[in-house]
Amino acid sequence: MKAEKRCKCGNSVGDPMVTAKTRYTKGGYFWLSMGFSSKPTEVVFQCQKCGEIIDSSTEEFIIEKYRYNSDIIK
Ligand SMILES: [Zn+2]
Repeated sequence: MKAEKRCKCGNSVGDPMVTAKTRYTKGGYFWLSMGFSSKPTEVVFQCQKCGEIIDSSTEEFIIEKYRYNSDIIK
């Protein structure tokens, strides 16, 4: 992740308007909908103001950090 990435309204990762969301594979969504836990394949950082996705990561430690306390993007 690079700190200088910004969306069109000027927010970057770490700003209050930017939230992390987790993304799953099709199979992952299926297991989640069945009430099982599933591991995200990607974490994306989205600006809540303009909706732009500023950054994303497939790094293992980023996924572990956000998998339980982030909204799921579909
Ligand atoms: Zn924005």
